[in-house]
Amino acid sequence: MFQSTSHGLAAVRSDAPQIEREIPIFEEAKAFAGLEDIYSKVKAGERLNREDGIRLYNTDNLLALGFLANMVRERINGANTYFVRNYYLNYTNICELDCKFCSFYRKEGQDGAFLMSLDHIFKTIESDKENITEMHIVGGLHDGLPYDYYLQMLRGIKKIDSRIHIKAFTAVEIDFFARLYGLTVEKVLLDFKEAGLDAMPGGGAEIFSDRVREKMFADKIGADEWVSVIKTAHRLGIPSNATMLYGHMEKIEERVDHLIRLREVQDETNGFFAFIPLAYHPHVEDSTQWATGVDNLKSIAVSRLMLDNFPHIKAYWISMGAKVAQISLGFGADDLDGTVRDERVFHMAGASTENALTKRQLVKLIKDAGRIPIERDALYNAIENFA
Ligand code: SF4
Repeated sequence: MFQSTSHGLAAVRSDAPQIEREIPIFEEAKAFAGLEDIYSKVKAGERLNREDGIRLYNTDNLLALGFLANMVRERINGANTYFVRNYYLNYTNICELDCKFCSFYRKEGQDGAFLMSLDHIFKTIESDKENITEMHIVGGLHDGLPYDYYLQMLRGIKKIDSRIHIKAFTAVEIDFFARLYGLTVEKVLLDFKEAGLDAMPGGGAEIFSDRVREKMFADKIGADEWVSVIKTAHRLGIPSNATMLYGHMEKIEERVDHLIRLREVQDETNGFFAFIPLAYHPHVEDSTQWATGVDNLKSIAVSRLMLDNFPHIKAYWISMGAKVAQISLGFGADDLDGTVRDERVFHMAGASTENALTKRQLVKLIKDAGRIPIERDALYNAIENFA
């Protein structure tokens, strides 16, 4: 499906309809004022460096940035734009940590704390299984559950419908399980794979910066541990996504360093499907620490340009809103995530987006952006093409 590039990577979809564009030299010169050298690199398929990434983030020429990102997007995926019918299962918000940016976690017994029984989980999925091809499962770090809770969860979902792909547990959760149950990360991943785990979501890394980590999530595993778990998963044949939480206290340089670190991992493992920039939602109403629409579009575009070895860039409409996510389809994104039924992490932080979108709504958003909607499964196999 993906062809090798000069980096030895899988980056170009051979089945994606390519789009030919000719723009007059004069128009190019105007559009890329100040970014001409980067335009030349992108046109030649050359890898961008740290300084390029910082300049792209700092440019005020949003349309030029979007055009550059769109060149890469169309080179890799043509007009194809993916979505999935997925259910978000946040099985508990009880967590032993207390990351400062997190509005989701509660301590046991605290108001709003919840833990789903396996019976409740299975009944919920059973009642809606026609509308689900992917389960996205993440939760808090609950230190009072038996290991079997997770194994039974995975096996039970597959028993309900073996066609449902399970994308579950961040690298942070996997590391936590290994420590809690006295197992290696590899053993946990192998047990989970045997029980039905197909892929992992990309969260938990937040941003690869020790400075930010110390202030916002000091007790969480750091970049090296996150990367180590992900590399182990990829080695065992469990692909994953990768995310970046932005719009809080991080610097532009730290965002670019995060992208470059992910790019290096992908060079080594080729195990990432998609990169998903996640816009931070502040707890405090009048906070000035939040990602604006322009920042959302820039983050999509810069990630598409820097992550030349990632097949997909996902616009997570829950965090940036469906309308900005739709516009981002012209700024480098080729995936709108999915129906995302019952998401709680961002909604407990005050996200005002809908609790779910229907398949018809997603198709309309994509078609109105002039793109081709493709319903996919969790592993990016096409289920239905709406061209
Ligand atoms: S971000 Fe995750 S680990 Fe941190 S407090 Fe929230 S649920 Fe717990």
